[in-house]
Amino acid sequence: MVEGHPWIFANEVDRVEGTVNGGEVVTVFSHDNKFVGSGYINPRSQIMVRILTRSRTDVINEDFFYERILACWEYRKKIGYTENCRLVFGEADSMPQLIIDKFNEYFVIQTLALGIDVWKPAIVKAIQKIFNPKGIYERNDVPVREVEGMTQQKGFLSGPFDTKITINENGLKFYVDIEDGQKTGYFLDQQDNRRAIQHIVKDADVLGAFTYTGTFEIHAAHYGAKSVLGLDISENAVQKANKNAILNGLGDVCKFQTANAFDVLKQWSKDGKQYDVVMLDPPAFTKSRETIQKAITGYKEINLRGMKLVKPGGFLVTSSCTSLVNAELFLQVIDMAAKDARRKLRQVCFQTQSPDHPIIPNIENTQYLKFLIVQVQ
Ligand code: SAH
Repeated sequence: MVEGHPWIFANEVDRVEGTVNGGEVVTVFSHDNKFVGSGYINPRSQIMVRILTRSRTDVINEDFFYERILACWEYRKKIGYTENCRLVFGEADSMPQLIIDKFNEYFVIQTLALGIDVWKPAIVKAIQKIFNPKGIYERNDVPVREVEGMTQQKGFLSGPFDTKITINENGLKFYVDIEDGQKTGYFLDQQDNRRAIQHIVKDADVLGAFTYTGTFEIHAAHYGAKSVLGLDISENAVQKANKNAILNGLGDVCKFQTANAFDVLKQWSKDGKQYDVVMLDPPAFTKSRETIQKAITGYKEINLRGMKLVKPGGFLVTSSCTSLVNAELFLQVIDMAAKDARRKLRQVCFQTQSPDHPIIPNIENTQYLKFLIVQVQ
């Protein structure tokens, strides 16, 4: 066990005393019988215990979760993330595998370990008490639940409501599809990074790939781009992106197309197309350490293709959303792509996820997003 890390792996456990059922709260002691903490156990998971508290006096009950969620809300208010925010970010908020996204008056929950799933009613009650929300929805249609011995499921945790909602971000409006959108419906982690493109897109011809609901592209149009084209492999995403552009009165400047970015970017650079700004926000490419090389290859390939489409002196805006590729490695991959493309780079900014997704040193999966803007010479 890494000092202060909330995960205790099965191979680190010498013995389990008494009978325990998956999902129960247990107390953990070190080999020399010192109290480590209390957390929930799942004997069928490699991560056997996830620590909830290191205080001997804490009692894990409904009130405990109310207090914890309230503390998360106080923290978000303190750092200025209130309207839309990740209210609970799992390990970083000392509630391993619990995600709660707040979309104004609506809440989306993921309970991705058995031990936190057990407390779903208490979590819902706490949200009701603190926020008196318009709706709460469960997006537990996530494969990792099966590793924990749970089913994938989604549905209302409050009375039913219209799950197609609209949120405000940076003065723009976006439809969020709570029921059928990706993950919890919207990627809040890029909310500050979307503002970071403000100056470089002015009067620019912009190409965005992996657009999903068009957030970066619509920001580009809003910040004064001359033309914006967004690409996504999903027809459904493209439809949503087009709707979002129209919702913001930017349908003339901002267009979207269904396409495989790998194929299209390659073809367009052969055709000699050039853009002032190219923006890339690809999916993780890998979920496991074993296939990390696959992710590296994917990032290198797509960034190489992206760079080739940037006019000399233009900008590449590029992201990576997996903690398996850390910041240092990501910059190395970008550097390799630049060498292959025979282009020189100048870093404009290098950022991470917005602060409503706190980073805890030594808990690697809390530091996952890399967001880079470079000038491509
Ligand atoms: N930029 C978005 C999030 C992108 S998520 C935002 O800020 O909200 C990644 C997107 O990449 C998904 O919508 C997925 O459909 C798309 N995608 C995955 N593989 C792709 C490919 N080969 N070509 C184009 N789009 C792809």
